[in-house]
Amino acid sequence: MTDTCWFCKKNPADGTKTIKVPFYKEVHREPVGSRVRIIWHSTEALIPRCSECAKAHARVRKANFIWRSVVIIALLVAWAVFPFLSGNTNMVCAVDLIILFSAPILLVAISRANKHYLRSLGTLPESGKKEYPEYLRLLGQGYVIGKGK
Ligand SMILES: [Zn+2]
Repeated sequence: MTDTCWFCKKNPADGTKTIKVPFYKEVHREPVGSRVRIIWHSTEALIPRCSECAKAHARVRKANFIWRSVVIIALLVAWAVFPFLSGNTNMVCAVDLIILFSAPILLVAISRANKHYLRSLGTLPESGKKEYPEYLRLLGQGYVIGKGK
């Protein structure tokens, strides 16, 4: 059976690009001597994805990493260097505030650009996996995300 990609809802899924989200929950608890034995059940939500969407997700991840690093490095440099360029303390405070407030704005702009890029390709962002029925079903059954114990 070939599933359709969850993210673009167009291409056939590529089995090697499936997103696997591990879930687990406690199913049973019993006393063993003075201790308690807990039985966990582990499972996975398998979210079908095509190679095009996988490529777009990887590109966004990389762009996010690069641009966030650029913003953070630029801010640190500006913060460290500016006081040496100006003897005016008030001015330094004002610039530091501008720097402080521009960082989140830039980070939001980066995330918007990513969303726009993905929308132009007709695909959901990787976080769209959280709307996949199997994912929601497991959460509804009390499973939590993780590898279990
Ligand atoms: Zn796709």
